[in-house]
Amino acid sequence: MSSPVYRRILLKLSGEALMGAGTDGIDPDILERYALEVRELVATGLQVALVIGGGNLFRGAGLAARGMDRVTGDHMGMLATVMNALAMQDALERLAVETRVMSALKIGQVCEDYDRRRAMHHLDKGRVTLFAAGTGNPFFTTDSAASLRAIEIGADLLIKATKVDGIYSADPVKDPTATFYRRISYDQVLHEGLMVMDTTAIVLCRDHGMPLRVININEPGALQRLIRGEEVGSLVVS
Ligand code: UDP
Repeated sequence: MSSPVYRRILLKLSGEALMGAGTDGIDPDILERYALEVRELVATGLQVALVIGGGNLFRGAGLAARGMDRVTGDHMGMLATVMNALAMQDALERLAVETRVMSALKIGQVCEDYDRRRAMHHLDKGRVTLFAAGTGNPFFTTDSAASLRAIEIGADLLIKATKVDGIYSADPVKDPTATFYRRISYDQVLHEGLMVMDTTAIVLCRDHGMPLRVININEPGALQRLIRGEEVGSLVVS
């Protein structure tokens, strides 16, 4: 098999991706499946950073809609991402993949604090490095955290794993005339209001020239083909 065309990538998974067929929480079978995929990536020599959302457990906006203080809700959302990262760390380590979890919020008895230099050191050592607790600030999302960390650590590519094949002009399930974008600019994403990532995340990537691939995580082999340079999903560039 050919070598990866990238040295270092950051993969963003939503919290919901961990639910499997369930309606919340973490499905251990799904977790193991993703862990196996990540192990295959690491086995190629690729450096892998991960950001996992928290939407399977808590979202600040959802909690605020039910009356909770928004900032407290966002703190709960960020802590939810730490739980997901710990679950993924456990799944990876059961497969003998070396990992580190680094949190943007200080919880030093649970995992390391985020430190860019240490993160790059872990990646250089081949450790899967999971960035937890988002950006550490309320009113942001884990898409923004993924964009920020990808830029900070000098990733060659940010990969957003979704349940669809890439970016369409409209929801292909509701609108059969929706067109598929194989390649699109960040400005076009903003102009057309496409739901790829939130605006903060898109603007960060655009302004710092971070390319983004949106892929279907449920398509077998998609990640492996992508890291070997195949055209998989949609590519967004500045
Ligand atoms: N969150 C936050 N700041 C961040 C990242 C996340 O406050 O930098 C909170 C926010 O409440 C968010 C929740 O954590 O709704 C879970 O993250 P997200 O909604 O991005 O998860 P996903 O949709 O990817 O599962």
